[in-house]
Amino acid sequence: MTPSPVSQSSTSDVIIIGAGAAGLMCAISAAESGKQVQVLDHANKAGKKILISGGGRCNFTNLYTEPSNFISQNPHFCKSALKRYTQWDFISEVDKAGLPWSEKKLGQLFSDKKSEAILNMLLDRCDGLGVHIQLDCSIETIEKTNDEYFVLQTNIAQYSCPSLVVATGAMSFPTMGATDFGHRLAKQFDINVTATTPGLVPFTFDAFEKGRFDGLSGVSMDSDIECNGQSFRENILFTHKGLSGPAVLQISSYWQPGNTVTVNCLPDFDLGESLKEQQKKNPNKHLVSILKNHFPERTIKAFCNPLDVSQPLQNYKHSELEDIANLFQKWHFIPSGTEGYKKAEVTLGGVNTDEVSSKTFESKKVKGLFFIGEVLDVTGHLGGFNFQWAWASGYCCGQAV
Ligand SMILES: Cc1cc2nc3c(=O)[nH]c(=O)nc-3n(C[C@H](O)[C@H](O)[C@H](O)COP(=O)(O)OP(=O)(O)OC[C@H]3O[C@@H](n4cnc5c(N)ncnc54)[C@H](O)[C@@H]3O)c2cc1C
Repeated sequence: MTPSPVSQSSTSDVIIIGAGAAGLMCAISAAESGKQVQVLDHANKAGKKILISGGGRCNFTNLYTEPSNFISQNPHFCKSALKRYTQWDFISEVDKAGLPWSEKKLGQLFSDKKSEAILNMLLDRCDGLGVHIQLDCSIETIEKTNDEYFVLQTNIAQYSCPSLVVATGAMSFPTMGATDFGHRLAKQFDINVTATTPGLVPFTFDAFEKGRFDGLSGVSMDSDIECNGQSFRENILFTHKGLSGPAVLQISSYWQPGNTVTVNCLPDFDLGESLKEQQKKNPNKHLVSILKNHFPERTIKAFCNPLDVSQPLQNYKHSELEDIANLFQKWHFIPSGTEGYKKAEVTLGGVNTDEVSSKTFESKKVKGLFFIGEVLDVTGHLGGFNFQWAWASGYCCGQAV
């Protein structure tokens, strides 16, 4: 890349690359501690992912945030920051700003106003603290000088600082400005990055399952879903490509190509036992009419095809009733893949947490270089946990820079 001619230069105590959730929180925290802060972002708007989050209502935290809600090669890494900046700290910021919020379910807190209200709250705080945010800024090179300053050549100016914070997120949802910049920068400084994959992402079906469930696009069901010893209870949603919905997004973060996923579409109920009881009580009732008490007809067709469920119950052996119940309650399938980074809410993996202090987020190898938020190998479950990680890591880093 040929560096653009640079007309000005600027020095700050701290430069934060990335005006997303983690970067903005870090800027507030550092500026509150008296630091002069410059934020640089290549996008034309700050906090784009905040704007689209939570279906436009930003699921900004979760009441039940615990380290067990996060996936990382080192499950202990997130503990310190989550303890030092809790969900209650962020809720108190939201309350101070007078923004109304509601718990939707499972401790998930959403803004009652549009997501923009949360972003504006952060931008107003930055503004009040004198944080300068430079948008449309392409970073061309970053070097560390002998006097321990980082020098950034950009299309706008040359920037330098003793503390450089990387808050560039990762590759999920590239339409919102996501890039692998942070991982490349880590590698430039010889900092290890763990393998990355899309997380919280819909599954795709192979040709067989696609044909089987073709007519169910848009159908959603409360289900238990299981893979690799993990399970989640929430809705699944059939799409024209495969399976989505909160339960599927959650389990996708634990899925590896080739793994079988097991779904129980009727949790808290023993369909096999119930069918056998009904057979005793009402032998002349048709199996399909009993199944219709639980599922719409097109769902029954898709799951049971090519089995004949139109007969009176008395015509079925117990083992046949069990087999039919299992089609709904022990549905095993191997996803052909996922919809990839384009549709993933997060990126699993990232800057190896062994390389970074869990207290300050400073690289153990490169003094003055910090990594926060999604660029790190810390990924939350669905439900406000990823923003809580961005706030917590951003806040703690801001205190340390
Ligand atoms: C559709 C969708 C909905 C979501 N909903 C929720 C939700 O409701 N609740 C929740 O907790 N989580 C949600 N998430 C996840 C959450 O948005 C992320 O985990 C969180 O934004 C990560 O924060 P971050 O600051 O680390 O990165 P980001 O928010 O991604 O910010 C990174 C910033 O860095 C900038 N950047 C990237 N590369 C460069 C570069 N080369 N040069 C300069 N700047 C650069 C980007 O433009 C961006 O502004 C959602 C994600 C998606 C995709």
